[in-house]
Amino acid sequence: MKISEIYQKKDLTLSFEVFPPKGDLGADVLRDVLAELSGLGPDFISVTYSAGGGGNSQKTVELAGLIGEYGTSSIAHLTCINSRREEIGAVVEAMKRRGIENILALRGDRVEGKEPTDFFHATELIAELRGQGFCIGAACYPEGHIENDSPEDDLTHLLEKEAAGAEFFVSQLFFENGKFYRFLERARSRGLRGPVTAGVMPILSKAQISRMIFMCGASLPSEIIRLLNRHENDPEALRQAGIAYAAEQAADLAKNGVDGVHIYTMNQPDIARAVVERLRADGYVGV
Ligand code: FAD
Repeated sequence: MKISEIYQKKDLTLSFEVFPPKGDLGADVLRDVLAELSGLGPDFISVTYSAGGGGNSQKTVELAGLIGEYGTSSIAHLTCINSRREEIGAVVEAMKRRGIENILALRGDRVEGKEPTDFFHATELIAELRGQGFCIGAACYPEGHIENDSPEDDLTHLLEKEAAGAEFFVSQLFFENGKFYRFLERARSRGLRGPVTAGVMPILSKAQISRMIFMCGASLPSEIIRLLNRHENDPEALRQAGIAYAAEQAADLAKNGVDGVHIYTMNQPDIARAVVERLRADGYVGV
């Protein structure tokens, strides 16, 4: 189903992100993960794409197609900065053959030593995809994109993505809901119309969180820093506290009427389950 139709029907969408396994997760285990995630009743599951393009693209297409077999709608991510127009064309044809209806159109991060040639920003990919029958989504950044020091300029480029054909938006992770609410207020006042889903990623370890904040620039509230300190020598307690924090974050987002909550599951169904159970307890998603 097209994601735009789902947003029209629901006050709050619930969605998950998964990534194509890097070889150590066998087909049976992957099917178990998808069965568990689909069993939680998400409105859609999105599948990441390696910005290097080439090698990984087939896995994204396959996994997004497989999700459909579990009766769940899927979104295939697609990045463009390291690809030629013909390469993108070939992946898009493969997506059409596999019945994929939704694409999250991204620029991706640069691969060292590879100069962009045909695509420099996500907007150009969105324009390329427009009119090919897909429902197109794009990324947004509640704390601004890490390469852009001007939040207003960043918003201008977000509006360009909508004008180019993006019909919905999925946000970068953040840990302070207030930042998301203020971003949404500014985006709406600048004229953004499409639904914006909030991306929530639980803290699972100190190493994971340092990598993430270095990559995306999300700020850490003192509450999270305290959790990191308190559970410094107990990785499992930190993981559980991180998941509980994410579940609370999701419940607050739902309470404040966001269009959707998107859980970065990291292929770990217990993360998604904890958030869903929290949302169910408050009556935000069906039992
Ligand atoms: P853009 O929208 O092109 O923006 C990139 C930067 O360029 C911003 O600073 C923007 O302000 C600026 N900009 C945009 N247009 C212009 C213009 N015309 N002139 C000047 N500046 C401009 N990466 C992956 O590799 N694979 C994935 O599967 C993946 N999934 C993601 C999912 C989500 C929900 C999010 C939020 C990010 C994801 N990423 C993924 C990361 C993403 O590829 C990076 O954040 C990347 O650096 C930017 O991608 P974008 O599509 O937002 O780029």
